[in-house]
Amino acid sequence: MKKELSASIIIFIIIMIGFIFSVRVSEQQNNKYLREKYVQSTEIKENTATTIAAPSEKAIDYQQKKVIIWVTSIILGMVVPAFFLFSGLSVGIRNWAQSRSKIAFIAFILYFIVYYSIITLISLPLDYYSSFVLKHAYGLSNQSFGKWIGDFLKSFAIAIAVGSALIYIPYALIKRSPGYWWLYFGLLLIPVLFFITFISPVYIDPIFNKYEKVQDTKLEARIYDLIDKTDIKNVKVYQVNKSVDTKEMNAYMTGVLNTKRIVLWDTTIKNLTDRETLAVVAHEMGHYLMGHVWKAIVLGGILNVFIFYLINKIALWVINKSGGTFGITKLHDIASLPLLMLLLSIVMFIVTPTINAYSRYTETEADRFELELTKDNEASMSSMIKLHQTSLALPTPGIVYKLWNYDHPTFEERVDFAKNYKPWEEGKALKYEKYIK
Ligand SMILES: [Zn+2]
Repeated sequence: MKKELSASIIIFIIIMIGFIFSVRVSEQQNNKYLREKYVQSTEIKENTATTIAAPSEKAIDYQQKKVIIWVTSIILGMVVPAFFLFSGLSVGIRNWAQSRSKIAFIAFILYFIVYYSIITLISLPLDYYSSFVLKHAYGLSNQSFGKWIGDFLKSFAIAIAVGSALIYIPYALIKRSPGYWWLYFGLLLIPVLFFITFISPVYIDPIFNKYEKVQDTKLEARIYDLIDKTDIKNVKVYQVNKSVDTKEMNAYMTGVLNTKRIVLWDTTIKNLTDRETLAVVAHEMGHYLMGHVWKAIVLGGILNVFIFYLINKIALWVINKSGGTFGITKLHDIASLPLLMLLLSIVMFIVTPTINAYSRYTETEADRFELELTKDNEASMSSMIKLHQTSLALPTPGIVYKLWNYDHPTFEERVDFAKNYKPWEEGKALKYEKYIK
């Protein structure tokens, strides 16, 4: 291995240590801020639906655990593929796969299955702890162990099936067009993402939970009345039995073309008043009208091209400077998969704050539309307060955690916005008038 590569690795490790330190400091500062700002609400025990209550010790504790899990998963996402490279394990799996089948396509699939299985096993304890143990410990989960393991096995099977079907494509592109594979592969992913977004609501999501029309017919009628206040045509509203998994609440908009839908977790319908549920639906309608799903597909596609461009550049440099340390001399060797995954982790780590900032912008616009449509600031505030407090969300996390993890504005920001945004009271024009009949 050449000096430039070892020096780069050392510098990168130092940067990551600095990053972890900054996470710690920002969380400490934030806890201080929360204790100072929300101290009064504790004393007078203010917990009306339009005021954020002081975060409980339990919520602060839960946030600390989430931060540790997040940092651990970043480290694992880099250390595990690095281990495959440095230990020679990747080359070993490749040699084994090639000895089992002379057909490159099959050997690639065998490599992928072994690689993905090992990665899944390594991340299993953290996965189990964060999505099952921790959620139960903090009273956020209704999930039985059987459902957890069932969902885990289903996800694993889907990943193996999809990964095996697709793994050969990037490598064939790298081999045929070493200079421009990143461009072709990035562009090719746009229709793939489109297709996945199209079929997921109908074929993938029901594998995990039950989707049905909103059971409360009075509420359902009010929802469709609200939809009739806009030009939205044939959108379907579903409820999903997430109460088997969680006590938390949520709603989302997904699908493209005729699979477009608004989905409400049944926990949301159960715990919110009708007015609050309508506020949540109005937010999702905002995503629908502003085309946030297809914009995410197109922007994501463009971003992918940029990401693969960077990965290609760095990977070629690493292979060149490695002097054969990893047993890889060509990028189209399947044994380079951990290298590509390691670089993907690093590049994603770098671009995540930008993706989240864009997402927070679209969420604010959906909140704005929600308020313009319903003009019900109180219901918006109280629905947000219930949604966040049930999930033990802090009014705001540390700034570093926010930049890397928050694809929605913070609890505090959203409630403030819902409290203060009422241009109709000042006779000002609405930003999304054009969407409202
Ligand atoms: Zn949203």
